[in-house]
Amino acid sequence: MFGTNGIRGIVNQEMTSELALKLGMATGTFFGRGSYVLGTDTRISNQMLKNAFTSGVLSVGGDIIDVGIVPSPTLQYSVPYLCAQAGAMITASHNPPEFNGIKIIDSDGTEAERGIEEKIENIFHKDAYRLVFWDAIGQVQYMDTRDRYRDAVRSQVNESLIQEKKFTVVLDCGNGAGSMVMPYLLRELGCRVVSLNCQPDGLFPGRLPEPTRDTLSDLLCMVQGNTADMGVALDGDADRAVFVTETGGYLDGDKTLALMAHHLVSPGEKCVTPVSSSSCISDVVTKNGGEMVYTRVGAPLVARKMIEVSAVFGGEENGGLIFPRHQYCRDGGMAMAVMLDIMAHTGKTLSQLAGEIPSYALFKGKVPCPPGEMERILEELVEGENQDMDLVDGVKIFLPEGWVLVRPSGTEPLIRVYAEARDPKTAEKIASMYLALVREMLK
Ligand code: MG
Repeated sequence: MFGTNGIRGIVNQEMTSELALKLGMATGTFFGRGSYVLGTDTRISNQMLKNAFTSGVLSVGGDIIDVGIVPSPTLQYSVPYLCAQAGAMITASHNPPEFNGIKIIDSDGTEAERGIEEKIENIFHKDAYRLVFWDAIGQVQYMDTRDRYRDAVRSQVNESLIQEKKFTVVLDCGNGAGSMVMPYLLRELGCRVVSLNCQPDGLFPGRLPEPTRDTLSDLLCMVQGNTADMGVALDGDADRAVFVTETGGYLDGDKTLALMAHHLVSPGEKCVTPVSSSSCISDVVTKNGGEMVYTRVGAPLVARKMIEVSAVFGGEENGGLIFPRHQYCRDGGMAMAVMLDIMAHTGKTLSQLAGEIPSYALFKGKVPCPPGEMERILEELVEGENQDMDLVDGVKIFLPEGWVLVRPSGTEPLIRVYAEARDPKTAEKIASMYLALVREMLK
């Protein structure tokens, strides 16, 4: 049932109120008596799913603390802050409006790990719910934790220095959950905030919830039109942030990761990212005397690895950045605050900071592949190769002119091929070579 980030599906097809009810019962049965913090993004199916999930938890004796419409990082911050048993976030993150999903949060605020999800699934499939007597049914209370979250973020940066700079920031919340918190956070940091798509609306009239170069043309225009210092766009649940420079340049997620790693990772410290991330991150981290640790693709895995190796920073190329001094989950609010902090400390503009990071070109391709064949393809690839390799996730091969990663997709019957080199032509050449090789092996 659970994918890389909770349960997702189209509403009233896969994602039904019956599913939410049973998932609430199973989650409450697994974690036991205590309180559960529950939040949603702005989707119009949220009330339907939230009420069903709530019913389920109450029926097995759990109490619900409803924190309303909040970004995922605000919900995740609230779970340990309120000493809750667990939490759940109703969101489909960056998926289109017809989708919704449920993400289970552990008591420490991290996404529940695979083992917990399997146990919940087991209870679900066996209908092994522990219904309580009528006098032990849970209760609901409502709480607003948004101020606490904003205070926590602000305490992580040099607030007064940022306030002195009086930055102008154009913020595009994409009509998502960020609208409830992030404009106010920026205002408290002394910014002049120009808001774009900051009215919560589950039909997402402004743009699709996934912030990509193609969906952010309004933001690019407004940054230049307002002579802003920075533009930021958040995804539907505001755990991911992507940045635009004062000259209207779109910053790739890899570059943002590298830019922050350059300023956050000191000698001897560790930075965690999936094997698919660009070499520009390892370039700056190793140059600073830090150490790179690679994981399989998927944010909860990055967070777990960061806890394991006590990393100071980590994240993914899609704008999901994790700041462990604050909390072990992707956090769009922290990403904005830290970027302003770096600009304030260095006195440099965002385009100057981005200019200090080496540039690489990434080319992505895919080949349809029956699930039964994936293992064989990877094995044959490893056998036939004499270059250095990394087998953390699929096969990553280090070539003289760059690297190539061949890995099975986690969600579809596809083999993905990523190739990186100094220039786009070489990256494409490497990718086509390996795409052809995989196709040949499939014959
Ligand atoms: Mg998200």
